[in-house]
Amino acid sequence: LRADIISIGTELLMGELVDTNAPYLAAQLPPLGIELQRITQTSDDMDMLVRALQETSQRSELVLTTGGLGPTDDDLTREAIAQLLGEDLYLDPPSLERLQETFRQRGASMSSANIKQANLIPSARSIHNAVGTAPGWWVENGGGIIVVMPGPPAELHRMWEVEVQPQLRYRAPGTVIVTRSFKTHGLGESALNELIAPLFLLPDATLGMYAQAQGVQVRVRVRAQNSEEAQRLLLPIEAELKRLLGDSIWGVDDQVLEEQVGNELRRQGLTLAVMESCTGGLLAHTITQVPGSSHYFRGGVVSYSNDMKIAWGVDPDLILDHGAVSPQVAQDMARAARDRMGADLGIGITGVAGPEELEGNPAGTVHIALAYDGGSTHFTRRYPSQRVLVKQRATMQALIELWNFLSRTDGDKGEDTGA
Ligand code: ATP
Repeated sequence: LRADIISIGTELLMGELVDTNAPYLAAQLPPLGIELQRITQTSDDMDMLVRALQETSQRSELVLTTGGLGPTDDDLTREAIAQLLGEDLYLDPPSLERLQETFRQRGASMSSANIKQANLIPSARSIHNAVGTAPGWWVENGGGIIVVMPGPPAELHRMWEVEVQPQLRYRAPGTVIVTRSFKTHGLGESALNELIAPLFLLPDATLGMYAQAQGVQVRVRVRAQNSEEAQRLLLPIEAELKRLLGDSIWGVDDQVLEEQVGNELRRQGLTLAVMESCTGGLLAHTITQVPGSSHYFRGGVVSYSNDMKIAWGVDPDLILDHGAVSPQVAQDMARAARDRMGADLGIGITGVAGPEELEGNPAGTVHIALAYDGGSTHFTRRYPSQRVLVKQRATMQALIELWNFLSRTDGDKGEDTGA
């Protein structure tokens, strides 16, 4: 079954409203084996709406729409479908009765404008809206289905879950589409593409790559009769990806880096302390987002000024000789964090969040260091000079370096640290 989604509302095209309905619906379709063709956003304009409905119904057997079911004159979804199918709207007495009952229960009087929400056409049946006033429509005409749902997300979600999804499950072709995302680090999209090129030829799977803040994701999609069969299809692909990419994979699906790093610290019995400057505590915040982080996280210091760095044990001569934003100071911050907080590992981050340069260092320059028993490593990165981005990217990079280190120390013990 092929599907199209249309999000209806002039606010969407004015940039005033972000369309969250289409992504919500898009994520609901693969488990039903429904193949989404395209998402369209259109304004509350009769001609545009009819054209969008025409195009989508030619392409797909199933068209899902949201929005434009309100009582006002600019809510035209029902009218557009009537025009598309050449059918006349009529007032449906049971729908009107339900609408009046909803207003009675709310203790509100129903305006005459609301009456049009009880309209139907011969090809449509009404779908109950348990949260709002506007009923949806289930339209069947000439083999295709158009499901018309309200715009407010709470109303849409409820209608989808209770009324629409069960109907579609019953009609869908008995297949499921299952996706698994493999999260990687240290490889750019093109390098990754070369490594996994043979997998693009697999007959049963579709591969895609997506660059994300935490690294590039490889997404594998399979279609099968049921989810057990899909898992069976995924197994050899997963094994091959792990063989080709090895330690570059740090997680799958919903796993996040801070949690993976936390699990690994816990498994290896190591503790961590951090001293941050330009990230302003974001690294400590991210680490402590994970429940149970107190098992391995000793603490963090935001040493934003030179005085504070020195007060927390950074050598003042290093700041004088190399400047506060330097690999030497990052390394000493990592060492000092580790020493002062009695941790096995210390991380130091110093950099320029921007937008101005600092002491000759361009905005976006960040030095990250990791101190451990018997040594330390450091990395320099240059990010786009937007404060939020610099802080986020530096935090992710610190976690990635920590993950790398933990994979290596674990590798030394001959164990597998894959996803
Ligand atoms: P109502 O009866 O409340 O008017 P409706 O079905 O006519 O519902 P719209 O008038 O199109 O829906 O939208 C009502 C509100 O729902 C919008 O102001 C917005 O807050 C939310 N909304 C509509 N469409 C979307 C969308 N695609 N993504 C997220 N929110 C949406």
